[in-house]
Amino acid sequence: MARARAVVIGTGIGGLAAAAGLCSAGWDVTACEQAAALEPVGAGLSLGPNGLRALDVFGAGDALRALAVPQELGIRRSDGRWLMRSTTGHMVTDRFGDPVILVPRAAVIDALAARVPDGVLSLGTEVTSVEPGGGAAALVSSTAGELEADLVVAADGIRSATRTALFPGHPGLRYAGFTTWQLLAGPVSGPVPMAESWGRGAVFGVMPLSGGRVYCYAAAPAASGARAGDELAELVRLFGTWHEPIPRLLAAARPQDVIRRDVAELAAPLPSFHRGRTVLLGDAAHPMTPNLGQGACQALEDAAVISRLAAGTEPDAVPAMLARYTAARLPRTTDVVRWSRRAAAMATRASPPAVGMRNTLTRLAGKLAPGAALRSLAPVYGWQPPAEARPSNDRHAP
Ligand SMILES: Cc1cc2nc3c(=O)[nH]c(=O)nc-3n(C[C@H](O)[C@H](O)[C@H](O)COP(=O)(O)OP(=O)(O)OC[C@H]3O[C@@H](n4cnc5c(N)ncnc54)[C@H](O)[C@@H]3O)c2cc1C
Repeated sequence: MARARAVVIGTGIGGLAAAAGLCSAGWDVTACEQAAALEPVGAGLSLGPNGLRALDVFGAGDALRALAVPQELGIRRSDGRWLMRSTTGHMVTDRFGDPVILVPRAAVIDALAARVPDGVLSLGTEVTSVEPGGGAAALVSSTAGELEADLVVAADGIRSATRTALFPGHPGLRYAGFTTWQLLAGPVSGPVPMAESWGRGAVFGVMPLSGGRVYCYAAAPAASGARAGDELAELVRLFGTWHEPIPRLLAAARPQDVIRRDVAELAAPLPSFHRGRTVLLGDAAHPMTPNLGQGACQALEDAAVISRLAAGTEPDAVPAMLARYTAARLPRTTDVVRWSRRAAAMATRASPPAVGMRNTLTRLAGKLAPGAALRSLAPVYGWQPPAEARPSNDRHAP
């Protein structure tokens, strides 16, 4: 019997994970990526227990646990005063089975790419159009030619052309009102406590990696599309007077290592994540503000669900399988997008009374109810992948 065919569009974290999962579910996969190489955009990535559980579905979780620097929860003011400093890292592990870890983005890409068999990736291949299929196969046109597929997984990122093609009436992206920077600083010597610092409307996060390198991220209100030219100089202008080690870390960074990205979300959730035989995954389906550190984790959850569903599905049943995917993923990701927006609003408060109120409440919560933050994260971190339909790789066994 011919193997069921899948085309994956885009090989960021979501697309690579889907390619790995579909291959191990016995599908014949072609993964088209417009870039000539697998180059992660961004420096570090925090992965919650839910993201690690999703990575386990592809057999990639342990490779990342081995590299991980567990995260602690710390929030400071821009002058350095601690608003909340939690030693609840072990409580996250006790409750959810893993800590929140910080890893280089490239390590996530490497761990997933190692689970994708040779011959699956088609790099330097831009998908130019998709006919979503239904009763008949889907048709994917690309710079490398045309492919028929029983399933198309569109993991083509926040500006997904597939999303626009599937849902032409949807209002699309809305700017979230702030921009972000990411950079790797160092190596630096001396202590660098892990923390996110909150000022008036602006945020600076400091996360040590192994080997003295430090992943930093920042956010500040800005006009959509505005660029400074020298983004490191812009960070020094905005954050150079904040508490140490922020100025020291900025002094240990190179301008070419700073990545700036404006943050956008969908103006409204999509009505569905699929049409016919074509399904959206990751930022293509549900772009979110980065404040909960969940964008990639949700893309991994999506890929884990599609892989588990596909393991028991014959080609004729793909449209019905995608209806089950939408039913599982649309409500879940809509919630996470909303919680993430709420976290963004909290961190980027700008007016002095609102900032004062936020800081007082955060300090009191840290003192009086250190477990409350943990409890509030239970719906995010407590996610479990669907059970395996049957052992992987036996679906097409002779
Ligand atoms: C500042 C910041 C910090 C963040 N921190 C975290 C964090 O700590 N933890 C976390 O979980 N998430 C975090 N995120 C979110 C996370 O980065 C994204 O949600 C995640 O990378 C999305 O992955 P993806 O695979 O869906 O899309 P992408 O990574 O955008 O991949 C899309 C791929 O599709 C390709 N592509 C697009 N169009 C085509 C086409 N027509 N043909 C072929 N290929 C195509 C692109 O080249 C790209 O490789 C952060 C985001 C920001 C901005």
